[in-house]
Amino acid sequence: MTQKQLKANKTIALVAHDHRKDDLIKWAIVNKEALSQHSLLATGTTGRLLEESLGLPVKKLLSGPLGGDQQIGALIAQSEIDVLIFFWDPMEAQPHDPDVKALLRVGIVWNIPMACDVATADFLISSPYMKGTYTAALTDYDAYKNRKV
Ligand code: PGA
Repeated sequence: MTQKQLKANKTIALVAHDHRKDDLIKWAIVNKEALSQHSLLATGTTGRLLEESLGLPVKKLLSGPLGGDQQIGALIAQSEIDVLIFFWDPMEAQPHDPDVKALLRVGIVWNIPMACDVATADFLISSPYMKGTYTAALTDYDAYKNRKV
């Protein structure tokens, strides 16, 4: 079986659609102490708002609709992101809906802990695995990679 070791200090990616940004910022302020133990990165606007309200460094990628979601997806595929907090908007279509779907999909492909609402984010941030190490099982894609085409 393939595995991936998550260290105690994790890289957490945060993304929120415009109507969910308030929820994410409020959640991040409540959990500032826990978040400060990890490396944070975010899509452009979400990252700017997080930095302003937390006073913690946040690596900012492109804005989501400009390719930021895809950048996060690529980093997940490269094992450079451990956890994804992604507050997507269930009430409004987005110009980058295909990117949103792609990001959620790649998170599953690489067995990334993902929270898309406040309750799940609360469970995630309070998990002992967040402060400690965790061994994540990875699907063995060798058969797929070596398939006869
Ligand atoms: P933003 O992007 O943080 O730049 O607003 C979020 C998104 O829509 O994916």
